[in-house]
Amino acid sequence: MVGKTLFDKIWDAHVVHTTPNGSQVLYIDRHFVHEVTSPQAFAEIGAKGLVIRQPGKQTVTADHNVPTIHQDRPITEAMSRQQVATLGENCAIHGLTYYGLGHENQGIVHVIGPELGLTKPGMTIVCGDSHTSTHGAFGCIAFGIGTSQVAQVFASQCLIQRKPKTMRITVDGELQEGVLAKDIILYLINKLGTGGATGYFVEYAGSAIRGLSMEGRMTVCNMSIEMGARGGLIAPDQTTFDYLYGRDNAPVGTDWDDAVAFWRSLPTEDDATFDLELAFQAEDIEPMVTYGTNPGMSVKINEPIPELGDTPNPGLQKSLDYMGLEPGQMMKGKEIDYVFIGSCTNARIEDLRIVASYVEGKTKDPNTIVWVIPGSKHVEKQAISEGLDVIFRNAGFEFRQPGCSACLGMNEDKIPAGAYCVSTSNRNFEGRQGQGARTILVSPLTAAAAAIAGKIVDFRTANMDTYAAV
Ligand code: SF4
Repeated sequence: MVGKTLFDKIWDAHVVHTTPNGSQVLYIDRHFVHEVTSPQAFAEIGAKGLVIRQPGKQTVTADHNVPTIHQDRPITEAMSRQQVATLGENCAIHGLTYYGLGHENQGIVHVIGPELGLTKPGMTIVCGDSHTSTHGAFGCIAFGIGTSQVAQVFASQCLIQRKPKTMRITVDGELQEGVLAKDIILYLINKLGTGGATGYFVEYAGSAIRGLSMEGRMTVCNMSIEMGARGGLIAPDQTTFDYLYGRDNAPVGTDWDDAVAFWRSLPTEDDATFDLELAFQAEDIEPMVTYGTNPGMSVKINEPIPELGDTPNPGLQKSLDYMGLEPGQMMKGKEIDYVFIGSCTNARIEDLRIVASYVEGKTKDPNTIVWVIPGSKHVEKQAISEGLDVIFRNAGFEFRQPGCSACLGMNEDKIPAGAYCVSTSNRNFEGRQGQGARTILVSPLTAAAAAIAGKIVDFRTANMDTYAAV
């Protein structure tokens, strides 16, 4: 009998029922909830007289609509104020624990799950948010769902799904110094295109992936959705166990030993097969920078934007018009207006340490506004305890409070029309950071260097001497 993949092992263990048409009812171990996709779902179960089936398996926080300054005051924007207030009311009605503004566990939903030890290997995890794929870094099946599915999970703790195909992407070799997890995933999206993994669940493997920290693995899995994948996952190993050990909600004592023994049984077996296998070399990856309006439109930092006709992307001219860029132009040297360091892709403590390591003792470009937004209250607290906030403020950066912030124009942190924003987030769609805003996706290190220079630079030749690898 052929061995099983990590994905198949988790999926098969969670099937409650298979319908005659092949769809399957999956049990969901953890449901993350936030203010944007939950109001209609709460209303739906209320209208049907249903209750939340397993309140203890819901984790609720406010992130998309929250301001990142003065979180102790009423939210200024009326729509955001209402969204956040409605979430709190719904949690009170349904008896759910709520990590609202001011709570020590509040933060971006995909940052708090792992840091609270709620995200563990072998689980099924859903959330009404595309970037739920982040949790796959722990060896979970984690994916985003729509509002009506949020109601389904509230009412039943189950979800009807069709099993996706599986793909393995192997990245072997050694990453060049300063090439980060964000560069890996931008490179992969560039190679596959934004639809290249549609219909698949992707397992990332290979020595370059194994060598990543949990934060780096989360960055890779986070952006799986940007190449069309249903989700991404990475086999749990000692790095995973070390990250989880001692966290709130992690097993303790003999339960820990039992859990680790189970987690060690999860990785894909040697003779297991995938519907598609792709392989890349880590040495080929360089710091990446996007130039267009989807995350696949990127170049290596020292390459020019493709000429029309050199790329299969038919929307290139339209994207470049929006971005105010030209075919053949270098992104390196492009002057910028804003730098946003944050989001569920790159707002964990490791990301902030990397930025601080580069920035310490330097001052930002006077014409560039720089926001550093920690991913959660715990990240904020940790950053302050390490003095990172002081490094940022001394450099002229604004170190703010946790939330999704300028990842999307849904709260007070918007980028003005026409302005260029170098961003560590995950989407550069038209208007994503505010109407008319022009987003350039990069790694935290490239963002830090851009903040100091006021333009896009290759940090390897710009002040690399003061970057201490962390
Ligand atoms: S940081 Fe951005 S991508 Fe992540 S959950 Fe918030 S809005 Fe979504």
